[in-house]
Amino acid sequence: MKVLVTGGLGYIGSHTCVQMLNAGMEPIIVDNLCNAKIAVLDRIEALTNIRPQFYQGDIRDETFLDDVFSKHAIQSVIHFAGLKAVGESVAKPLEYYDNNVNGSLVLARAMRTAGVKSIIFSSSATVYGDPESVPITESSSVGATTNPYGRSKYMVEGCLTDFYQSQPDWSVTFARYFNPVGAHPSGTMGEDPQGIPNNLMPFIAQVAVGRRDKLSIFGDDYATPDGTGVRDYIHVMDVADGHLVALNRVGQKAGLHIYNLGTGKGSSVIEMLDAFSQACGKPVPYEICPRRPGDIGACWASTEKAEKQLGWKATRSVLEMTADTWHWQSKNPQGY
Ligand code: NAD
Ligand code: UDP
Repeated sequence: MKVLVTGGLGYIGSHTCVQMLNAGMEPIIVDNLCNAKIAVLDRIEALTNIRPQFYQGDIRDETFLDDVFSKHAIQSVIHFAGLKAVGESVAKPLEYYDNNVNGSLVLARAMRTAGVKSIIFSSSATVYGDPESVPITESSSVGATTNPYGRSKYMVEGCLTDFYQSQPDWSVTFARYFNPVGAHPSGTMGEDPQGIPNNLMPFIAQVAVGRRDKLSIFGDDYATPDGTGVRDYIHVMDVADGHLVALNRVGQKAGLHIYNLGTGKGSSVIEMLDAFSQACGKPVPYEICPRRPGDIGACWASTEKAEKQLGWKATRSVLEMTADTWHWQSKNPQGY
């Protein structure tokens, strides 16, 4: 199966491409390299013995996309490309809406032109905002987003929902990721944030490897067992596998399909820190700091719908997430 993968050299995209190649699928990668390095392509090749077709370009460039679609008999699209830093989105909302929302509209138009009617869109648990209750199901209310990044995801879901209503023979899937972490077990691919990491796991990894002094824990007064924030961390390899299952199960089935990609289990910041210390064999220094504005206390996914309808469940443990992150970070202290 030939699948156009936008943002395929990024963190989640690269792991998904490896799993696709291992499963005999043919990813065709489009990435403008705004948040990825070309070295990722070599790592994908080293792991799979296949160098996937890669086009450097921007998804907002319709002529470019038309050209890529005209060169390959593409059956589906997995749409990872987007900007994802919450804080940056507050500072640069126009850039975020342009890249994430406009980029998705241009992509959908190019797909329509090419007659490709199947898309899996990288959405996020952020569309649920601060949930009224946990676990969060796919029918929990959405839209109470707290920043432009989250709103851009919610807007794209809205645009694609309306588009699907007008084209009911399409297969449109929203994969709402919870907190993807971890790395390829080989230690050759992983998350490589530019500048100061926004997210917990890469920050802890950079402290452990000596690039930063200590972790700031944002708040220990949440209504959670140890007071620190609770999230549903999911191994990036599980996220990758979830895409393959979605492609196979609903990718060619007309409909609007919405799935949480999480584990169904929440872990606190302290629990993640302890697991990481275990993985790297040393304590990771930290200090307790005030809450981060816009943060919620706890969220984790209901995995029931994905289990029932896709027959899919995440299998990798928190210890595997931290061990694989440490393997990657210690082998690649400065990233790619
Ligand atoms: P990433 O930044 O590592 O990957 C995104 C890739 O898209 C990068 O390689 C970047 O160069 C590329 N890109 C960005 N804009 C582009 C454009 N206009 N044209 C072509 N390429 C472009 O991010 P990731 O963590 O792999 O996330 C992938 C997707 O999943 C994103 O849409 C993100 O919002 C979403 N998501 C991520 C998380 C997470 O925690 N990592 C959680 C929920 C949702
Ligand atoms: N967090 C933290 N210090 C950091 C980064 C994150 O204490 O340097 C906490 C954050 O407050 C939240 C959890 O770790 O409770 C996960 O944060 P992340 O930014 O990784 O994911 P998100 O908030 O988007 O779920």
